[in-house]
Amino acid sequence: MSDPLKAGAAGGAGGPGMTAAAAFAGMRRVPPVVFKAGCPDCRASFELAASALRLAIGATSRTTFYSFTCPECGSAVRKPAGERVVELLTGGGVRTLRLHSTV
Ligand SMILES: [Zn+2]
Repeated sequence: MSDPLKAGAAGGAGGPGMTAAAAFAGMRRVPPVVFKAGCPDCRASFELAASALRLAIGATSRTTFYSFTCPECGSAVRKPAGERVVELLTGGGVRTLRLHSTV
């Protein structure tokens, strides 16, 4: 009356610790940075990669703007960029142009 299966059943104890931190580290990935934008011409809204945007920084906030080409209708869109937007765009890797003002 032996039980041959007993030898192979190692129970559930003694496994290497799988912590939540390790699981998260394995899942880490960096999502591409995208910016939500809208087109005033065709009213489409879309997400643009940093490479699709250009940021121009002028002497004042009035001459600071970002621009992109609408993927829907192809029109060139230019919008004023406040401090927050400038921070977001530069932090996201958008190409930045510095304009010289002669005023
Ligand atoms: Zn458009």
